[in-house]
Amino acid sequence: MCYAIPGKVIAVTNNIATVDYFGELRRAHVMDGIAQIGDYVYAQGGIVVEKISAADAIPVLEIWREQFFELKKVDARLSSTSTKGNNTIASLIAKAENGGNLNRNDMLAILSAENRTNLEMIYTAANRTRRNRLDNACCVHGIIEFSNHCLNDCLYCGIRAGNKVLKRYRMSSEEIIDAADHAIKLGFRSLVLQSGEDQYYTDAMLAAIVKEIHERHGVLLFVSIGERSKECYRKLYESGAYGALIRFETSNKNIYERMRPGKKLQARLNLIRWLKEIGFILATGFLISLPGQTQDDIINDILLTKSLKPDMYSFGPLIPHLQTPLATIEKPNLSYILKVIALSRLVDPDAKILATTALETLGPDAGAAGLLAGANSLMIDATPSKYRKLYDLYPGKTGTDESVEAMAEKTIKLLRSLGRAPTDLGVLL
Ligand code: SAH
Ligand code: SF4
Repeated sequence: MCYAIPGKVIAVTNNIATVDYFGELRRAHVMDGIAQIGDYVYAQGGIVVEKISAADAIPVLEIWREQFFELKKVDARLSSTSTKGNNTIASLIAKAENGGNLNRNDMLAILSAENRTNLEMIYTAANRTRRNRLDNACCVHGIIEFSNHCLNDCLYCGIRAGNKVLKRYRMSSEEIIDAADHAIKLGFRSLVLQSGEDQYYTDAMLAAIVKEIHERHGVLLFVSIGERSKECYRKLYESGAYGALIRFETSNKNIYERMRPGKKLQARLNLIRWLKEIGFILATGFLISLPGQTQDDIINDILLTKSLKPDMYSFGPLIPHLQTPLATIEKPNLSYILKVIALSRLVDPDAKILATTALETLGPDAGAAGLLAGANSLMIDATPSKYRKLYDLYPGKTGTDESVEAMAEKTIKLLRSLGRAPTDLGVLL
């Protein structure tokens, strides 16, 4: 199993490497001068994460050589099946595909589309755009959920402080490092370390964990730990966590402040913008189907995400959890989430868009449907199984009883069937 294809560096200018993958050229940042012309490297999220020897690279390349082109053929076939029509939706899609900007009314029309033909037209156009702009690379991230303690009380979240029936856990530094070792051994090259907002882990503890993983492995590390101080984030970046996953949750200030008691939307956005400014690879986005959220809000959410220039869009459905004040709200339907994915793709054609684990709870094929509606990134839960069920943000998380190996294998199979290479090569030149 392999979540990265080695590439050969053919040029480096101002710390940006041009990396060759069987003739396809991509761009990736070189941190700390780890790679030079002629080196074989692994790149993730637009960053060279590891230099490897030719002796290690060449056998892996041999395995990939045929598959690389075979997968592209499958993807080309699947993404060329387009549904045609000649109504408003068809003309909006044509506008977007011809490089035009969709205005708010256009976006609203797409979000409101309902009949099957219109929906198919929207999804296939988004899938086509994804392939034209980004080809078939699909980044597979592993997520390690290391603590379900949280001092916040977000109304939507199953691990909120107010959930008194949940059994709480904290992984030790050693357990977190072991879980990362295990995931990396399985082939993951991008890992997210996520938790509730848990001050038990001091800045120094978190930095030491990140540093250890970073020193042991060529892996792109994201942290997803909510609102910690700038000082904390700076330390984590310096220790080797170059990515931050932090959603703004909703662009609607009133809803935000109702859903996240004691929290301010502006403070969250200031932090997100600052993280991007200081160089973090940013993954951000929003929740869909918050009480009171309108289609206009969703349009604002997409536009706000785009304006933050994230390296990855991460948005997903709010899945109601029984031990929260939102227990009785309605789950959004799959086609609505697919429309939001497709619309995001049409509005921001070069975006990396995650098909989230919450989306996967909406049906057995929901992850695949997301990938066929414009998404190009996936997340697999790599938390040790004894803790996985307890990280209970929302009910119905897939794979809570499966081993990480089994889930990874299933994902690879799915990606193969869709013609996606389970890898992130960097940005197309
Ligand atoms: N505490 C950190 C990270 C963990 S929560 C933070 O809040 O940023 C990670 C994400 O889970 C949140 O950003 C939220 O969007 C999502 N989430 C929480 N409860 C959810 C639910 N019931 N359904 C779907 N997603 C949920
Ligand atoms: Fe805590 Fe994050 Fe859940 Fe809010 S969403 S209660 S901050 S874990």
